[in-house]
Amino acid sequence: MSSQPSARSATNTLRISAILCALFVSLPEVAAEEELQRFEFQRIRMGIPVSLTVYASTQESANEATNAAYARLKQLDQLLSDYDDDSELMRVCKGAAVGVPQAVSPDFWLVLQRAQQLAGETDGAFDVTVGPLVKLWRSARRSRTLPAPDRLAAALSRTGYQKLRLDEERQTVTFLQTGMELDFGAIAKGYAADEALRILRERGLHRALVAVAGDLVAGDPPPGRSFWRVEIEPLRGGSPHGSSPERIQLVNGAVSTSGDAYRFVEIEGVRYSHIVNPRTGIGLTTPCSVTVFAKTGIAADSLSTAVAILGREAGSRLLEKHPGTEMYFVESQSGDERRTTTTPGWAALRTPD
Ligand code: AMP
Ligand code: MG
Repeated sequence: MSSQPSARSATNTLRISAILCALFVSLPEVAAEEELQRFEFQRIRMGIPVSLTVYASTQESANEATNAAYARLKQLDQLLSDYDDDSELMRVCKGAAVGVPQAVSPDFWLVLQRAQQLAGETDGAFDVTVGPLVKLWRSARRSRTLPAPDRLAAALSRTGYQKLRLDEERQTVTFLQTGMELDFGAIAKGYAADEALRILRERGLHRALVAVAGDLVAGDPPPGRSFWRVEIEPLRGGSPHGSSPERIQLVNGAVSTSGDAYRFVEIEGVRYSHIVNPRTGIGLTTPCSVTVFAKTGIAADSLSTAVAILGREAGSRLLEKHPGTEMYFVESQSGDERRTTTTPGWAALRTPD
């Protein structure tokens, strides 16, 4: 079982570290840019570390912009968290009466609509109605025993994206089944990172990098550089990425890693992931690490989880329908062997060193 200190922090342990690239000086810098200084901040939001790295002319302007970004993240946490009993997500689920539409906030709507779209595209492999199953597996992680078959069947009966109705015009959601619980754990971090970057840009800080645990969203590169350099951390218990870590370049784009590096439970020699197959109700059993590059955080986050569930072949096919996305998929084979699959455009993302 994962040795993370708590389920909450374990949920989102930092898997990608971002460091500045000092290799390439390709952008002609204007005088004002030379005076930009680098500022780094880290605070806990959504129960996980959120890092903001910005270039600003003064400490004051960096503080002002990052405070606003952190405030926005706090607001999103209050809407989308399944750990906070008072969040909009929890209120919507608890207050749901079967067949009665409930109005939701614009942020909630945006995330739910994107999730439902992806659920349709993946034939329900990605499904934010997995809440009852995820909770069952959380207690399996604590007790190290498999969920009882009757409880698994009950949770499965309360799962299914087709048991939700969305009304586009009124921005309402209707539950068609009792006891449904939504879980935005696979998509909200990426959206939150997008929003934090948007706030920083609005305040004039375009050279910025947001890291919501393993979900990274980058704006313009640091002064004098042509990209932010991002290193994909290897899985614990050996490097799935081979001896040299994978380093990629990020500019006005996003990258997200999904997999069971940190959250899994091993029962009777089988390793079950925190990512659940909604068709069977069982946590994934093939250890894998999936990194997806996309233009936005919400896309990278949701697609990386979706690809982890679909596997490399169906996952690659899914990404073909999302132009501009790329994938780096590593899965454990027998023993220490690793199998790596990348989409054709991944190589161009690698840093040249
Ligand atoms: P990520 O770290 O982005 O891959 O998200 C993993 C989280 O997504 C889990 O901890 C669950 O909260 C949630 N989740 C698990 N299985 C699914 C699934 N099949 N579809 C959507 N979300 C899921
Ligand atoms: Mg995700």
